[in-house]
Amino acid sequence: MAVSETLLNPGRRWQNWGRVETAEPIYIAKPGSVDEVVAVVLRARELGLPVKAVGAGHSFTAIAAAPGVLVDLAALDGLHHVDSQLGRVTLGAGTNLYQVPALLAPHGLAMENLGDIDQQTIAGATSTGTHGTGGTFRGLAAQLVAVTVVTADGSILHVSESENAELLPAARLGLGALGILVDVTVQCVPTFVLHAVERPESFNGVLDNFLPLVAASDHFEFYWFPHTDTVLTKTNTRLPADATLHKLSPLAHWFDDTLMANGLFRATCATGKSIPAAVPSINRLASKLTGDREFTDISTSVFTTKRTVRFREMEYALPREAVPDAVRSISKLIRDRGWRISFPLEVRAAAADDLWLSTANGRDTGYIAVHRYWRENHLEYFHAVEEILRSYDGRPHWGKIHTQNAQALAESYSHFGDFLAVRDRLDPERVFANPYLDRVLGA
Ligand SMILES: Cc1cc2nc3c(=O)[nH]c(=O)nc-3n(C[C@H](O)[C@H](O)[C@H](O)COP(=O)(O)OP(=O)(O)OC[C@H]3O[C@@H](n4cnc5c(N)ncnc54)[C@H](O)[C@@H]3O)c2cc1C
Repeated sequence: MAVSETLLNPGRRWQNWGRVETAEPIYIAKPGSVDEVVAVVLRARELGLPVKAVGAGHSFTAIAAAPGVLVDLAALDGLHHVDSQLGRVTLGAGTNLYQVPALLAPHGLAMENLGDIDQQTIAGATSTGTHGTGGTFRGLAAQLVAVTVVTADGSILHVSESENAELLPAARLGLGALGILVDVTVQCVPTFVLHAVERPESFNGVLDNFLPLVAASDHFEFYWFPHTDTVLTKTNTRLPADATLHKLSPLAHWFDDTLMANGLFRATCATGKSIPAAVPSINRLASKLTGDREFTDISTSVFTTKRTVRFREMEYALPREAVPDAVRSISKLIRDRGWRISFPLEVRAAAADDLWLSTANGRDTGYIAVHRYWRENHLEYFHAVEEILRSYDGRPHWGKIHTQNAQALAESYSHFGDFLAVRDRLDPERVFANPYLDRVLGA
């Protein structure tokens, strides 16, 4: 295939959203078609350069760092195909999640579950195991029923229940290690509405009842501000699309989501950094001022929010029943070390799935995430919390900061070897490798 030389443009510095990882790609490619993706891969191989598709750069790890050729799939976005009967849609891999509701709504469809934000690309989000919350709902990758991948030899591989089905458990959540996804097919659900209830509740009360609370609601999660004995619970109940909406008024929306959740929070994080002793009082105030509201809105408006305060995050997936003990251990750790932590812990749940590298593979899961304001040093806190979470058989989120390597991870995943075998088959020369993948999968 003839390769347009203009497909490879000189690289420029790349950094991720959390400002913790950077890369200096030699070339940047912005292919406008699947053929151009193939051409980029083949040309990179001729040049002996590794290739990496990059989404929105919202992973906190260096999983998307591209030292050779950075492939930006922004032009491969949008809705390619709708199967109204099965409720399935095929989206370009570079489609951002915020584009999806408008693409699906005319067909009466929505994504079954989402995470906290919608800035990611669909391929980036699914490739790292992005998830939301809900005891019986699985992560985003489990909502995929088919993917199309450009592999290291330039082949275009369709993976679905009817084609190369043996690759489905690997290719839907492939860490970007198996090739470049050019499209994904999502199993959708009919559009729906969520009734949201957000309340401050007692730390011990919620931890004592964590499993029943998850079981009793469609989507339960909570935030705990360290140094307080209050958690903010969020309970979302699914309702049919024609349920009456009671949206937040624009003023309430601005007050809670723009002023409190972002503007004031930025100021409190900055204050907490310069005057750490003020953090406990600030956290007590924050947990009083936020999180007491009730509203009903279309699903995507409830699931996702805007995050304008920059932070770093580590998140581990635990057997769900271990969550209360693990949160208490982290609380004790913070107290014992005398740390002042301004950012809340976030605790969520997801159903078991069968994707080989899913953090919820084979077990009903609870997630514990810790965060630090980006201008603070996260290392000591994250390392100590990580030790606790590992002791509960935790698995790190692939897109969030952690220190595990292939040897340790192989013990956490019963199909780790199967995934590596698929990688050896599809990318024997490690065209899609980078230092992060060398660490977590082996070179
Ligand atoms: C503010 C914030 C909130 C977040 N909230 C959540 C949350 O609620 N739940 C959760 O689970 N995670 C959450 N995350 C993590 C985030 O969802 C993941 O890190 C996700 O991977 C980011 O998607 P991206 O498009 O930015 O991908 P990138 O970070 O750019 O890339 C991630 C991986 O996907 C690969 N990739 C991208 N495109 C392709 C492609 N076309 N083909 C093959 N591989 C590809 C990359 O090579 C890389 O390996 C959050 C992150 C931030 C910064």
